[in-house]
Amino acid sequence: MSEASPRRKALALISGGLDSLLAVRVVQEQGIEVEGINFFTGFCVEGHTHAIRKQAQQKQKRNNALWSAEQLGIKLHIIDISEEYKEVVLNPKHGYGANLNPCLDCKIFMVGKAMGYVNRAREFAADKGFDFLITGEVVGQRPKSQRAMTMPMIARESGADDRLLRPLCAKRMAPTLPEREGWVDREKLYDFHGRSRNPQIALAEAFGFTDWAQPAGGCCFLTDEAYSRKLTDLWSARGERRYELDDIMLLKVGRHVRPAPNYKLIVGREEGENNFLEGYRHEFAHIRILSHNGPLTLVDGTPDADDLVRAARLAGRFCQGRDADEIEVEIVAKGGVSRQLKVVPMRTGDVPEAWYL
Ligand code: SF4
Repeated sequence: MSEASPRRKALALISGGLDSLLAVRVVQEQGIEVEGINFFTGFCVEGHTHAIRKQAQQKQKRNNALWSAEQLGIKLHIIDISEEYKEVVLNPKHGYGANLNPCLDCKIFMVGKAMGYVNRAREFAADKGFDFLITGEVVGQRPKSQRAMTMPMIARESGADDRLLRPLCAKRMAPTLPEREGWVDREKLYDFHGRSRNPQIALAEAFGFTDWAQPAGGCCFLTDEAYSRKLTDLWSARGERRYELDDIMLLKVGRHVRPAPNYKLIVGREEGENNFLEGYRHEFAHIRILSHNGPLTLVDGTPDADDLVRAARLAGRFCQGRDADEIEVEIVAKGGVSRQLKVVPMRTGDVPEAWYL
């Protein structure tokens, strides 16, 4: 790049993980100015479970995308795409992965969305705009979305085409516009591939990073088998495939137990979850155990009065009086009408395994 050339600027998709952290640092090393973009889908694992559950209190609570931005010294744009993202989850053109994760469609959508920002900036901000987009993708790392065959598909279908640079595996791909134009030096990019994390860890160490996010179970709940089962159950109970943000938040919390097609219980598993569920109690019928320590239980669906008594007996299974002859409970119907009564908690043999979602 000649001295007279304008300083180039890139937008980077930041997930909060190690790969996007490294991808940005690699291009920063070449004098490129970078800003980050992070998308909130509603299914993000990060922070949510740890933030709610008291048991996980010792774990660090941080927004890893913001933390990455801080490490890199870049501005981060956090965009809520949860509404538009529904179409990706409900009707993925390329299908699902092992669970309800539509990874390929998700990548195409996110890259396309980020590219929209690049294009708008190029159109309206002239020399202050972005010239290209960066992701931390590594060829061969993910079975569906990061295969040699699907990487060009993501670039093509997202509309990013050759303005999409993957610094960690660029040497395994055809040269992109930023490389051909000399905005970045291809020789200083990488050729990582496959599932091994060793090259990334070595590069992180070379850059002096001593800490990075290692989300167990991936970046979103859609890759989680139990979560996907609960979401499938929600759709089949409603007779249609749709969801609201509150639905998918509640699937992350509590023990979900379905004794009948018309209702299910969401039972707080500990204090943090009970507190979280308190915020939803006015929207659901709910059950409190009065005579013993026990969880708050929300009852989702269309339970009748008998169903609520049965639900209270089942909720009793999860309180400290589970072996008592009787427990006292408060049942609050949806709408607020409350009654107190004594019930016999269900015993272990009364609760088939199949009720647990
Ligand atoms: S794991 Fe989730 S966020 Fe990540 S690519 Fe797949 S669907 Fe998208």
